[in-house]
Amino acid sequence: MVESNRIIRPQPRARVQAMKEYHPPLGNRDLLRLDFNENTLACSPKVREVLGSISAGALTRYPEREPIEAIVAAHLGLSAQQVALTNGVDEAIHVLFEAFLEAGDELLLPVPTYTMYEVYASATDARIVTVQAADDLQFPFDRLLAAITPEIKIIAVANPNSPSGSVATRAQLIEIAQRAPHAVLLVDEAYFHFHGETLIDQIDKFPNLVVARTFSKAYGLAGLRLGVLAGPVELMRWVRRVLSPYSVNSLALACLPPALEDAAYIEWYVSQVLAARAEFEAALDAVKLRRWPSRANFILVDIGPKHAEFVHFMRTAGVLVRDRSNDPGCDGRVRITIGTREQMREAVVALNQVVVSLNLGANSK
Ligand code: PMP
Repeated sequence: MVESNRIIRPQPRARVQAMKEYHPPLGNRDLLRLDFNENTLACSPKVREVLGSISAGALTRYPEREPIEAIVAAHLGLSAQQVALTNGVDEAIHVLFEAFLEAGDELLLPVPTYTMYEVYASATDARIVTVQAADDLQFPFDRLLAAITPEIKIIAVANPNSPSGSVATRAQLIEIAQRAPHAVLLVDEAYFHFHGETLIDQIDKFPNLVVARTFSKAYGLAGLRLGVLAGPVELMRWVRRVLSPYSVNSLALACLPPALEDAAYIEWYVSQVLAARAEFEAALDAVKLRRWPSRANFILVDIGPKHAEFVHFMRTAGVLVRDRSNDPGCDGRVRITIGTREQMREAVVALNQVVVSLNLGANSK
């Protein structure tokens, strides 16, 4: 409608207008993908088999998540009411924030951490409170505890954390849950398989503890978008109110049982990554690039002022890596995903070339 030469348009909420668009660099990725912490190879062949056998008729139906939710719950040692499947952990974060954050509330985040917490929180009316890690990028436990106030409604901790790869201990996370009974503690275990420690067994011991898991990393199903949110029944019922009943599609649902059953595949992939991580760490140390200890399938490396050139050179050599310079306290740092041993040998060749070409190494400190 035009009124006195002015076009009237619907306006979104002020918070949405203030949000930045988030554009992950997903273009032209037919190279060695060490940029998004995905499985760098493939999912289990058993999952592939099931995908191939899905009939056209099956696609005409709306997805039914409950039977699969029960299977996932049993796999995690929980009841079906304690578990919700989501369209990736991203949707789990989104619905949890939507269910619990309102005006006057605060989200507490140790930073640097996974970017999407801030993105989804900025769409709510809550305020974001951050606690910056020190230069060692270790979990800032004491300062996080000190930052807990009555206004804090959610505390989100990625464990292992990204981009640092650092971890919080079970004891630390339990203490946070106890010290903030009025807040939801979200422990995001996206990289659980590479770390091996979980808080899933503590669900229901604390009425405010919620754990997220993804099928995007070790399982190699990032393209299917599958996540799990697990927590006490009393909290999960609020999450279910805002969760779309159809957000996990039927192809993803069909792939979940074979993915869970093929434990040997996950074991093999994780053992590849752990061996490759140790070898890649040794390669970084040999060229004297500073790195942070990681319990995940990636390593954060200090490249220094030439970080953008480094990422560019690696791409030219066929290896994609991710510049994290814009993360708080991460100027000059690049995150490199760990793939299989063979892939990482290829990455080491590229790394050694770029170190010479850009004269990196001891100078980057
Ligand atoms: N949490 C963390 C800590 C992550 O790094 C990622 C993916 N980069 C996610 C959640 C998102 O996982 P999903 O693909 O299941 O949405």
